[in-house]
Amino acid sequence: MTYKSKFGFGCMRLPLTDATNPTSIDQDLFNEMVDIYMEKGFNYFDTSYAYHGGKSESAIRKAVVERYPRESYLICDKIPTWALTQESDNEKFVNEMLERLGIDYFDVLFIHNINVPWFKLAENSNSFEYIKKIKEKGIAKQIGISFHDNSELLKKVLDKYGDILDIVQLELNYLDWEDPSIEAHKCYDLCVEHGLDVYVMEPLKGGVIVNPNDEIKNDFKEFNPDKSIASFAIRFCASLEHVKIVLSGMSKMEDLIDNCNTYENFEVLSAEESDFLEKMALKLSESVAVPCSECGYCTDACPEMIPIPEYFNLYNTSKNQPQSNIYRLYFDKLGDEKVPADECTYCGTCLDHCTQKIDIPEVLEKVCEHFTKGFSPYAGHP
Ligand code: SF4
Ligand code: SF4
Repeated sequence: MTYKSKFGFGCMRLPLTDATNPTSIDQDLFNEMVDIYMEKGFNYFDTSYAYHGGKSESAIRKAVVERYPRESYLICDKIPTWALTQESDNEKFVNEMLERLGIDYFDVLFIHNINVPWFKLAENSNSFEYIKKIKEKGIAKQIGISFHDNSELLKKVLDKYGDILDIVQLELNYLDWEDPSIEAHKCYDLCVEHGLDVYVMEPLKGGVIVNPNDEIKNDFKEFNPDKSIASFAIRFCASLEHVKIVLSGMSKMEDLIDNCNTYENFEVLSAEESDFLEKMALKLSESVAVPCSECGYCTDACPEMIPIPEYFNLYNTSKNQPQSNIYRLYFDKLGDEKVPADECTYCGTCLDHCTQKIDIPEVLEKVCEHFTKGFSPYAGHP
């Protein structure tokens, strides 16, 4: 089975029937999207034990495994590192993942979300030795890690385990390429030095890149009115030689169609386009108040069940569009029985989970202050 394109179907942001419930996957729409994706010759699906509250794998079973021959697609799944308490947990999770997907081997198996604290958990549970054995037994064709930390940790991981791994999945996009906390460029170079393939997650940084302020939107229109902002971001990643897969999380049919167009008419990024994106990255990083990728890992971990990314999204929108009705939306959320941002107890549980290294309790304080200071939800916004 071979990779037919760099276009990977990321199954962390599937279409929903209820936008407030991540387990309510719209199976009919997902099936339809899978049919178009497969018909156009693409074949790589990426999931994890955790996505969509554990429902992403079974949605793939229904849309792909039960409807297409096994040799016609590739599946990547990931062991939930944060939930490992002992060595036998590796096998327990892998068996459950295979059962949820309805398959008897993975094309790719990752240890999920390696960062400083979870690298320790993976080592304490012998996960690297475990995935090596799983590959020898043929239960995984290729193995690797998905990685969410800086180049210093990646160097440490690859110096120790690089020779048993095939792939590193990195957060990589033109906004994070030279970002000092994500260090995508340095991490990419380290993978290349170790002879490893790079798979890309978050090419749009969870939507941050495609929802900029009006000034940036106009810059893109002036530069090239025929190409979407997303297509530039994808071409930035897929033009890199050692990138073999670029994941796109698609919650709407339009996203899928736009991505299909980008790959079917693929052009390597030109030097002029590359310079333009460098300028846009600078403008964007100055305009985004909180670089949240809306991955949702913090929400699953927060004992108070604060809808953290929803508040960060409103905060970012409010900063970029101060004249919008966004203030009203904040108070509407509270009316919908969402836990208010000021119920944060500063327990710090969310911090290890944040893929963007955001000081969540500190930013939640700013969110509260921003939305409540001098504002009555019953009047107009300030
Ligand atoms: S620090 Fe606040 S936001 Fe983070 S997990 Fe604790 S209560 Fe939730
Ligand atoms: S705050 Fe961090 S963990 Fe939470 S959704 Fe945003 S990027 Fe993800």
